[in-house]
Amino acid sequence: MNQSDSTIKAEPFPRTIDLLFINCHLATMAKGSYSIIKNGALGVTRKKISWAGEQANLPKTPEKLSPQVIDCQGKWIVPGFVDCHTHLVWAGSRSNEFEMRLNGASYEEIAKKGGGIFSTVRATRNATENELFSQASKRMDNLLKQGTTCVEIKSGYGLDLDTELKMLSVIDRLNQAFPLHIEPTFLGAHTLPLEFTGKPDDYVNLVTQTMLPRVKDQGIATAVDVFCEGIAFSKAQTRKIFKAATDLGFRVKLHAEQLSDMDGAALATEFNALSCDHLEYLSALGAKKMAEKDVSAVLLPGAFYFLKETQKPPVHLFRKLGIPMAISTDLNPGSSPVHAMTLILNMACLLFDLGCEEAISGATLNGAKALGLDKTKGSIEVGKDADLVVWDIKTPADLCYLLGQPQVTMVVISGKIEYQIKRPEPIENILPIE
Ligand SMILES: [Zn+2]
Repeated sequence: MNQSDSTIKAEPFPRTIDLLFINCHLATMAKGSYSIIKNGALGVTRKKISWAGEQANLPKTPEKLSPQVIDCQGKWIVPGFVDCHTHLVWAGSRSNEFEMRLNGASYEEIAKKGGGIFSTVRATRNATENELFSQASKRMDNLLKQGTTCVEIKSGYGLDLDTELKMLSVIDRLNQAFPLHIEPTFLGAHTLPLEFTGKPDDYVNLVTQTMLPRVKDQGIATAVDVFCEGIAFSKAQTRKIFKAATDLGFRVKLHAEQLSDMDGAALATEFNALSCDHLEYLSALGAKKMAEKDVSAVLLPGAFYFLKETQKPPVHLFRKLGIPMAISTDLNPGSSPVHAMTLILNMACLLFDLGCEEAISGATLNGAKALGLDKTKGSIEVGKDADLVVWDIKTPADLCYLLGQPQVTMVVISGKIEYQIKRPEPIENILPIE
């Protein structure tokens, strides 16, 4: 494990510290490695990290430095997870479908009974904005309690103007109501809606000529995504949507090469995409083009696991070419109903052969990079947003290794404690029943 980074320790001590953590170990994830500071302390000033270093280097006793001192009792502080690819807003449930699949039903049989993505589209169209908000709120709570402090959320279960705008409006409300930072993405081209069967180009025109300008006008999305796949949109259709999106000033990203090699990643690089996501069938040429344009690879082992896929993304190529690898939950009802980033860390290690340090970096700094936020989020460095999680672990690798253990002790977002585990009262403090 890499030890302390001198650039962090060399920072001058700030005049004021609003919140000071002591008796902690830090996995700062600076520059994408553990960059560990043992026996450390961390200061927060005005929502930002203002100091991080060895506690022995604190200039005064902690209580003289800050009005709020938190004794971490040897726990670890890691940057909050940045979950850079989710479809967190949806209505309905697909657990029936899951059970049908396990009982041997084929995809066609499930589709005939109204299952698959169109059941989610139907339920989402029928749900009110308040219903969608209330269901998504539970998922947001779950993310927060499991250490995620920043999340990207896509639309894409509306597939008509009103429902796409309704979803983006819900995402906007979540952003106001929850402390987590949300990056909203418009994914109108998620799949072809049933009413446009046989007329995909008409739908692409609706996306480019009507939906995109309205989304732009309302200012409720920062990026545009497309699912480029045999069962979704062709390369030519994707190009048309990307052209319209970038003309309006949106950044783009792509669901690329998940089920086949569509040469989508190469197309995405032409538009300086933020990221290409999935990438199980990425070619060597596609990877080379991603490297040339510094496009991030977002790996989604939850979907690979849930769909029992066998083709793995070319992780060796990403390493060789220096392509940043992010990992994400892909939280969605059909192919990855996974909320916990720690579970995704484990899957990234065991299914995609990432090392623990690579996986944690993928869930923090590289997740931020895939959203264009790596200057402000994803690592513990002076000047960055104070988005931090205190974990009850013995070593950072425990985040990948300990399955299902509740390890989050505290979540801090923008320097404010937003979640803290509540321990039950010690038994001797409970009065006996008379
Ligand atoms: Zn997705």
